Amino acid sequence: MDRASACLAGPVPDLAAYDRVLLAFSGGKDSLACLLHLLEAGVPASRIELHHHDVDGDQPFIDWPCTLPYCRAVAGYFGVPLYRSWRAGGFLGEMDRQGDPTGAVLFELPDGGLGRAGGAGPPGWRGRFPQVSADLRVRWCSSVLKIEVLAAAIRGQARFFDGRTLVVTGERAEESPGRARYLTFEAHRTATGGGRAPARRVDHWRPIHGWPEAEVWRLIERFGVTPHLAYQLGWGRLSCRACIFGSPNQWATIRAVFPDQFRHIAAREAASGLTIQRCASVVALADRGRPHPAALARPDLVAQAEAADWRLPVISRPWSLPAGAFGEASGPV
Ligand code: SF4
Repeated sequence: MDRASACLAGPVPDLAAYDRVLLAFSGGKDSLACLLHLLEAGVPASRIELHHHDVDGDQPFIDWPCTLPYCRAVAGYFGVPLYRSWRAGGFLGEMDRQGDPTGAVLFELPDGGLGRAGGAGPPGWRGRFPQVSADLRVRWCSSVLKIEVLAAAIRGQARFFDGRTLVVTGERAEESPGRARYLTFEAHRTATGGGRAPARRVDHWRPIHGWPEAEVWRLIERFGVTPHLAYQLGWGRLSCRACIFGSPNQWATIRAVFPDQFRHIAAREAASGLTIQRCASVVALADRGRPHPAALARPDLVAQAEAADWRLPVISRPWSLPAGAFGEASGPV
């Protein structure tokens, strides 16, 4: 493919030319739309694999407990494998580093085993939340807990030297000016080629980069897939539940219906001596906001959102637009 024209026009790569399509699957509407789009485009489920990066890893702290079970339920329904990957210690472990290296990346393997990469880097200190910034060098959560985790899972498996791999991610231009600048198609950061080393042929496609939100919901409605509970409880985007970009209304909702998580985050923020957002503490932000009415009205969904297993149907008929659709777009930029 001519990469210059690809990034301008956003053409569809020749999907039949890839031995596998690897979709970074957060469980949010955009990665779900990517999965449905691939299936509609005729990619066999047997060639698709979902990779979910578990931000909390082995220490619950910032994310939705229901996200991983929801992702597994969706993957099971469509008959595609889902591989979980995470950084040892997760968000909390990275934030608490005091002279230790960043934790190893752990990743589930097709044979049921667990791969491991890294964990022997230079010592480092954090002691504070990531900065609310588009710059991934200071907003370390996105890079350390997601982008580098996927890259390590690919680099750590010899099978990716065999044939061609298409990595698919669901960023959309509408989400932020930063994301608008992303290319639609490019070589993936794990691609290698030439020289004496074997080539790892990996391309990166963002198939819904130019889609408006309405198009995403239309596709999900056509399949009737139950959206992640975040949307049903009033969130406009699926991020970590206590995402550093959280709006006053989101912090007010967390305080109202997920009080243990709110207290934990507020205590860690106070202990660090620095607020997550420059303008105010999470307590001050929550004071400014109003809890999402949908969350206050549905204690049953709040309970499911806290659960480590998924008990709702994957397909909802009739399907209805969740309360958070077209709402606040707070989240990573
Ligand atoms: S969703 Fe928010 S808190 Fe979670 S990794 Fe992304 S930027 Fe960080």
